[in-house]
Amino acid sequence: MPTSSTDILAALLPAETASPQETQALGLRLGAVLGPGDVVALYGDLGTGKTCLVKGIAAAHDVPPETVGSPTFTLANVYPGRDGPLYHLDAYRLRHLDELFELGIDEYLYGDGLCLVEWPQRLEPLLPEHTLRLHLTHLGRDRRRIAWNDR
Ligand code: ADP
Ligand code: MG
Repeated sequence: MPTSSTDILAALLPAETASPQETQALGLRLGAVLGPGDVVALYGDLGTGKTCLVKGIAAAHDVPPETVGSPTFTLANVYPGRDGPLYHLDAYRLRHLDELFELGIDEYLYGDGLCLVEWPQRLEPLLPEHTLRLHLTHLGRDRRRIAWNDR
């Protein structure tokens, strides 16, 4: 990722949003700077807005946000994006890393697509070194905090 992109990403977060629309809009801005080969790990409890943010990132890659669902029951969805595949993983129900190898996880994490991972802690050992780690927290009601590497 070029240094200028890293600077833009650093400037966008931390952020606080007050509605799902705001979170999606933030995703759109983040998505504009993300591209093929990037892996974004989205940490945060249920309902903190991970999928909502993914919808915005997807929109930046010409994937209609309404087509982006929660892959909770399917482990992964693949969408054709503007400049390559968009991989959306949700490891919430992952029981064993073998399930990921059956899926062809190498292509997701080390291929030419943009990969977005919910519940990344379930596959922590597989995440590439260049993974961008993002943390979402519930601040009460509709407020959410979204930050980098803020465990
Ligand atoms: P996750 O993928 O983290 O489980 P989702 O994005 O699926 O979360 O759902 C977030 C839920 O929280 C949605 O029901 C959404 O309407 C609600 N919500 C309320 N405020 C916000 C906000 N500021 N950002 C994102 N979602 C919000
Ligand atoms: Mg989700």
